[in-house]
Amino acid sequence: MTGNKTFTMIKPDAFAAGNSGAIIKMIEEAGFSIKAMKLVKLSAEKAGGFYAVHKERPFYNDLCKYMSSGAIIAIILEKENAVADFRKLIGATNPAEAAEGTIRKLFAKSIEANAVHGSDSDENAAIEGSFFFSELEKF
Ligand code: GDP
Repeated sequence: MTGNKTFTMIKPDAFAAGNSGAIIKMIEEAGFSIKAMKLVKLSAEKAGGFYAVHKERPFYNDLCKYMSSGAIIAIILEKENAVADFRKLIGATNPAEAAEGTIRKLFAKSIEANAVHGSDSDENAAIEGSFFFSELEKF
């Protein structure tokens, strides 16, 4: 059975460029509803904790530096088939490979500064949402 929640972040490049409103509009128009949302600035340590699964990858240190370089917006979203539908809406990790009309194609600057995060499984959506929000903060 597929879940109905996913977790996203508007990453520092997209927030700094003033694209948060346009991105949230696309997300809502695609049928997702916002269950929790906050503006956060991660420390490098916190970013490292969030991306701990990527610890062995060569870009891990750069990723932590980038994700703590400015404000982000953390959001829990709800929709039927949320994880898969959201990954489709954002497009491939590398914007050069992202499909036309996807959020990353429209707003990402590079494979690292790629505008948005999207959970890759129901299990990770729950873990990532709880990284930023307590039960009381979720609608
Ligand atoms: P995602 O699920 O599409 O976000 O991609 P991954 O889980 O593979 O990677 C997590 C994040 O690490 C990506 O969204 C990028 O911000 C960053 N990233 C992925 N691949 C690379 C890379 O080859 N180089 C750099 N610098 N960053 C990367």
